[in-house]
Amino acid sequence: MTALLEVHGLRVAYGKIEAVKGITFTVEEGQVVTLIGTNGAGKTTTLRTLSGLITPLDGTVLFAGQPLIGVPAHRIVALGLAHSPEGRHIFPRLTITENLRLGAFLRKDTTAVKQDIERVYELFPVLGERASQPSGTLSGGEQQMLAMGRALMSRPRLLMLDEPSMGLSPIMMQKIMTTVAELRSSGTTILLVEQNARAALSLADQGHVMETGRIVLSGTGAGLLHDESVRKAYLGED
Ligand code: ATP
Repeated sequence: MTALLEVHGLRVAYGKIEAVKGITFTVEEGQVVTLIGTNGAGKTTTLRTLSGLITPLDGTVLFAGQPLIGVPAHRIVALGLAHSPEGRHIFPRLTITENLRLGAFLRKDTTAVKQDIERVYELFPVLGERASQPSGTLSGGEQQMLAMGRALMSRPRLLMLDEPSMGLSPIMMQKIMTTVAELRSSGTTILLVEQNARAALSLADQGHVMETGRIVLSGTGAGLLHDESVRKAYLGED
């Protein structure tokens, strides 16, 4: 079986600083794959490169067998790869519904777009209750839900989530992680970047630990949760 996403030897630099130093991994259809690691390990840079926002120095990326490097970001969305970025990046003056419609900007099927907005409101009822309010009035956790909802509006084959639990209360974080699990059950393939290694590994099929631009350890989510070095370095155990 060919993987939905195949990343091989990816290298990315900001000027002279090499942030990603040759990483290789795959994401199979239907899987949740997580990249964990400390601040500055290169996780966000990896996602931004896969989205077409940064041009890498070297490496290949195949999405459903098609090369992605050099393809403009809007074409990558059209191919079925959506990105819910770190720091949310919603449009605070636009309403919640308007933000969701922006996530469907490439779609012409207006009836299905309306249905998908309703689906986001089923996933996150608080967004539906406040549909016509400016989204800047939402709490941080609610804005995170909106960013995820907006990414889903392109009906992606692969959803990339960058730190969906960042800055959230434990209850909100639990809600976001439950939603990630629900999305996986409904067939969405997910590449998840998370600081909260325990939460991410608990629901991931595969995980990769990144340190200073390299993948230093890979395994199943459950395997990494029980790995002694992961437990010491990332799960706060001694
Ligand atoms: P975090 O969890 O803190 O976001 P990360 O694993 O996502 O960490 P990146 O944001 O990808 O890490 O950063 C990788 C390295 O690249 C870091 O050393 C960072 O300082 C550097 N870096 C990131 N963005 C830029 C930029 N625009 N210009 C220069 N250096 C950058």
